[in-house]
Amino acid sequence: MNTKDRSVRATTLDNRSRRNFLGGAAALGTVALAGHSSLARALLPGAPDLILTDGELITLDPTRPRAQAISIKDGLIQAVGSSSDVLALRGSATEVLSLAGRTVIPGLNDSHMHPTRAGRFYAMELRWDGVPSLEQGLNMLADQAKRTPEGRWVRVIGGWSPYQFTEKRMPTPAELTKAAPGTPVYVLFLYSQGFLNKAAVDLLGLSPETQTPPGTAYEFTPDGGAIIHAKPNPDLLYGTIGALPPMTAEQQAISTRHYYRELNRFGLTSIIDAGGGGHHFPEDYVGSEQLALSGELPIRISKYLFPQQKGRELEEFQRWTAGWEVHANAAHALAHGYVVRGGGEFLAWAAGDYENFLDDRPDITTRKYWRSQLLAVTRHLLANRWPLRIHATYDESINHILDVFEEAHALEVAEGRLGFGGIRWAFDHGETMKRPTLQRIKAMGGGMAMQARMAYAGEYFLERYGVEATRNAPPFRDVIEAGVPLGLGSDSTRVASYNPWNTLYWATTGRSVGGTQLHGERQQLSREEALFHHTVGSAWFSQEELFKGRLKPGQFADLAVLSAPYLEVGDEELRQIESELTIVNGQVVHDAGAFGGRAPILPEIEPNWSPVRHHGGFYKV
Ligand SMILES: [Zn+2]
Repeated sequence: MNTKDRSVRATTLDNRSRRNFLGGAAALGTVALAGHSSLARALLPGAPDLILTDGELITLDPTRPRAQAISIKDGLIQAVGSSSDVLALRGSATEVLSLAGRTVIPGLNDSHMHPTRAGRFYAMELRWDGVPSLEQGLNMLADQAKRTPEGRWVRVIGGWSPYQFTEKRMPTPAELTKAAPGTPVYVLFLYSQGFLNKAAVDLLGLSPETQTPPGTAYEFTPDGGAIIHAKPNPDLLYGTIGALPPMTAEQQAISTRHYYRELNRFGLTSIIDAGGGGHHFPEDYVGSEQLALSGELPIRISKYLFPQQKGRELEEFQRWTAGWEVHANAAHALAHGYVVRGGGEFLAWAAGDYENFLDDRPDITTRKYWRSQLLAVTRHLLANRWPLRIHATYDESINHILDVFEEAHALEVAEGRLGFGGIRWAFDHGETMKRPTLQRIKAMGGGMAMQARMAYAGEYFLERYGVEATRNAPPFRDVIEAGVPLGLGSDSTRVASYNPWNTLYWATTGRSVGGTQLHGERQQLSREEALFHHTVGSAWFSQEELFKGRLKPGQFADLAVLSAPYLEVGDEELRQIESELTIVNGQVVHDAGAFGGRAPILPEIEPNWSPVRHHGGFYKV
């Protein structure tokens, strides 16, 4: 087989589509140079800005799966090949870094998380992500309470599971009251339960007489604290967070910079924002928007817009489709940097099935206007040619939603429009989805974005639905076999942690963060498969699969140099992996160890009592 020929053909095809998007920014044909058959090179003229040599590159480029070196020019990958061949391209101004055998992967892409909302709150949150014991978590909380000024809260907002703790249990309100006698504390577990200490109950003025929305309840405890239960409606959990005092726009921008640096630390270079409850577009996006406009965004963000007004979703989408252009980049100096990609992950609140595995499955069809509201929004987005994605946890909900999508398509076509034809669309989550359902999705050209929620809630799912259902939740292998595009992600930060190595650990071992075996062997991914679906696979959801996700000439120069050899390390070491050097658009956005001193220095996080300043983000041993 002639590898050289295949390489040329594949990249030429990519570049034809790319030119339409980039508007001919660069001449990007690819050639295999005569006498340099081990080198694939894009037609980016001139010497490279940066060369990385002596690495173990996992390229995900089928024409050249492994390589030693890569050169970068003007934010794009110029060449990939052996160290000697790539070094031959070196010019007088080229920086050369030897990787001393380290593993390099294409930058990771989380196809479903809530990063703009996370950045907005990051500086105000104490993270329990990765904390090994409840005792340690409570010590951190007590320590943080001491420096928290009067009237401010200590908040732990998701990203942890009781099974990650050696104690294998949740905190009690009494423990929170003991750790923080005078400071209000709110600890959120998924969208299932929230824990309040006595000071929080007092400050909120809660009592057994307090009115709660339907489907939620307060449980008061003898210490004077309380537990909020979503049964299964999480509005009260959302609402309690939303009522806490916000930061200024400037503080939100700094908070967001620190949060994105934290994502870069784990090798993330792209993220898809799925909106989020209580997160209003555009006013709550100021932190990320400021970074986009100032050219300081260190990660490529695609956004799906999420309506907030129940029953008036169509009006919100009408405003957005009139005022925003999909696929238009709003970032300065970063191609595909800050882009609205469509509507979702909620299209109509009444069609949302909350994933509370501590309670029964909700039936969306019991809600009066779910169908008419979803149909109206779907038709509006289709008529405006906006991509869409929709949250659905259970197979039953997915099928109800598919009925509406099929009807929307038929009605649109009957009026002479294209309906779902040519529209990129997807379901998010799908833990209990079945194989026949995948055939319906395949027929309509949809994708499945699946996240590490089971790694955090899997023990509760197991208790409720049993071993057999758990072995297939979610059914990765069935999605791949059905030929439906699959993207991996976290659904962080209020459900899972944002650390993608937890997702990759779960996807390749089938185990929760607490070590409980969930997936059966059939649904576990190989390491290379998991990497593919966390890079190329995720890029499909923002229509960027030709631009990023591989170490391949002509693609964006987004990559991570890892602290350990991903394909070889043991499972426990796998989840300790971090990036030692993260590059986005050819620029160093995070560095550590031997590569330290290259990334921009961040402003000090504010306020000065911020938990992040003292405890960081994901727990460091
Ligand atoms: Zn969701």
